[in-house]
Amino acid sequence: MNTKVVKMNEDKMNINAIEEAAIIIKGGGLVVFPTETVYGLGANALDDKAVSKIFEAKGRPQDNPLIIHVADFNIKEYIKELPFIATKLMEEFWPGPITFILNKSDIVPLTTSAGLNTIGIRMPSNKIARELILKSGVPIAAPSANISGRPSPTEVERCIEDLSGKVEYILGGEGSNIGLESTILDCTVEPPCILRPGAITLEMLKEVKEDIYIDPAVMKMPSKELKPKAPGMKYRHYAPKAPLKIIRGDLKKTIAKVNEIVQNCIDKEKTVGIIATEETKSCYNNGIVLSLGSRKNLDVIAKNLFECLRAIDDKNVDLILSESFDELGIGIAIMNRLKKSAGFDILDV
Ligand code: AMP
Ligand code: MG
Repeated sequence: MNTKVVKMNEDKMNINAIEEAAIIIKGGGLVVFPTETVYGLGANALDDKAVSKIFEAKGRPQDNPLIIHVADFNIKEYIKELPFIATKLMEEFWPGPITFILNKSDIVPLTTSAGLNTIGIRMPSNKIARELILKSGVPIAAPSANISGRPSPTEVERCIEDLSGKVEYILGGEGSNIGLESTILDCTVEPPCILRPGAITLEMLKEVKEDIYIDPAVMKMPSKELKPKAPGMKYRHYAPKAPLKIIRGDLKKTIAKVNEIVQNCIDKEKTVGIIATEETKSCYNNGIVLSLGSRKNLDVIAKNLFECLRAIDDKNVDLILSESFDELGIGIAIMNRLKKSAGFDILDV
């Protein structure tokens, strides 16, 4: 398949290209598009055949449901009922990086929801995404635009790398502003429950509703007793090709431990990539060091995380070591993605 790639800015949209891409969506094809969280791989959410192509192109497990993306608040058609708290939170945080799980109506095919009676809905704030949805005239089902298991793409070049030849159209924008997938909030239960942490943090949600909580399985290694409620959270995810180990604890001790492991690897002629920060990057004696940004701004760390995992993979290292972050605010989402990337391989120092 020939993939057409058109790059543009949110402030200088190429309306012709968006219209062409919308025709592809209406015709049952696949379009990659930018959002503020990560790039999405989209199809008409109400067309069961179009949606199956997403699973095929990504190699996505059939039991992992898709989020549908809308451009306005007219979502009644797609759901059975809208709880008061969901309305309140949508008014507060939409358009933006939060997905609401609600009971779905019959017009949303079971292929989209992977057999569930519920559906995730999000209104992105990215203007290119919104324009594409509006021009398509249908909700767009879109998981992240990567091959399943790989780190989600926050740059258009990474979508081209993973999906060129598998989709009809790639709309490129700038790098994703947030860089982590949306917060997922299950509103079919009371109190609502966070199934995946993201940039809309627990603290932000608690300002609107005090008794929201995080699915306890989210931050731990999935086990028989502790299964995450979002089907997708049970898979190894966001994984670079080389094994990743998180070194957790006091920064001084972290640096010493990383230097020790790197030296051992050098002795065995192995190369190591180090995921560091501005404050620590000059403290490592050897290894390929990439900085996620300053520890003073966790939003920037979040924005750079997936691109950093991919960039370090390009260096063909044998092992990746990463510093850890406090699990507060967006730090919860950063650590959730890092832990999953590492397959929960954490060394406490
Ligand atoms: P992605 O679009 O690649 O970020 O993945 C979507 C995530 O949303 C996956 O972890 C899914 O399991 C989760 N998800 C989507 N729909 C539902 C739903 N109806 N119930 C629970 N989790 C969902
Ligand atoms: Mg994904």
